[in-house]
Amino acid sequence: MEAFFRAQKPIDLHLHSNVSDGTDTPTQVVRAAYKAGVRTMALTDHDTTAGWAEAAAECARLGMTFIGGMEITARGARGGGVHMLAYLVDPEEEELLAAVNNTLDARIPRLQEMTERLADDYTITWDDVLAESDGKSIGRPHLASAMIRLGHAADTNDFFERIVTKDSKYYVSSPGIDVAEVIRLVRQAGGVPITAHPVGRHSHVMPLEHMVLLKAAGLGGFELGHVENQKNPDGLAALTRYAEEFDLIVTGSSDYHGTRKPNKPGSYQTDPEMLKRIIDEATGYEPIYPSLA
Ligand code: AMP
Ligand code: FE
Ligand code: FE
Ligand code: ZN
Repeated sequence: MEAFFRAQKPIDLHLHSNVSDGTDTPTQVVRAAYKAGVRTMALTDHDTTAGWAEAAAECARLGMTFIGGMEITARGARGGGVHMLAYLVDPEEEELLAAVNNTLDARIPRLQEMTERLADDYTITWDDVLAESDGKSIGRPHLASAMIRLGHAADTNDFFERIVTKDSKYYVSSPGIDVAEVIRLVRQAGGVPITAHPVGRHSHVMPLEHMVLLKAAGLGGFELGHVENQKNPDGLAALTRYAEEFDLIVTGSSDYHGTRKPNKPGSYQTDPEMLKRIIDEATGYEPIYPSLA
């Protein structure tokens, strides 16, 4: 309890570094968050915790609180992609680690396949894409950067909305673990699973049966404060009601990706009471508070 109040506001629990598809190093992410006024942050790279140590060290230097996080690629009940934020998981828990490493491995052939399909119509090679990533947590944003650099796309938005849309012939669906299984794995690793941008990428309104299944699987909550959720007001209203009825944790965060997205650190924030609930439920990893000295 006492320790918790050392986690200062504002709180932003969703930021990406170049360990996945952000453009800043973990150190630079922390500095960008600090500069924007954020005082407690989670680093949540896609399917990896490899940036935690570096980000935690920079948080310590700046007197910020560090919350370990990861954004896990999952498959929803309707077969679509779901991103599950996992807070304060044990980063070495074997079953979770094996599952996310599997997803990371599957990202490479998927990106290669998309690159090959694009190469039918554009001049692009796999080396062009690899030049944008260290090749580990690779995704469409790296492909987007390559396409922009080669002059085939105007910007990230142009890539996602005109060229590699989900129904285009270039798109290959992402790998991912069944959402209920992800929830189970995150809890087993002592973490708290919170669905990222839960309504932002479709126009669907979650049916009650689905909510009941997620709750039974151990879902912790929803990231209701996310810029993309604004695109689906009916879906957001439904989840806001479920959050009350099912006593879920509700977070708000920026989903900062450096220059790959316009989202600025601290643009959405999490209420301290909600962070407290995450910390209270988690057993896998401790928040790293700044020293009082
Ligand atoms: P992937 O997992 O390879 O399908 O890529 C998903 C990633 O692409 C997400 O984590 C976002 O960072 C990014 N993304 C998805 N849609 C968009 C969009 N419309 N504009 C910019 N970035 C996007
Ligand atoms: Fe991303
Ligand atoms: Fe996401
Ligand atoms: Zn994200």
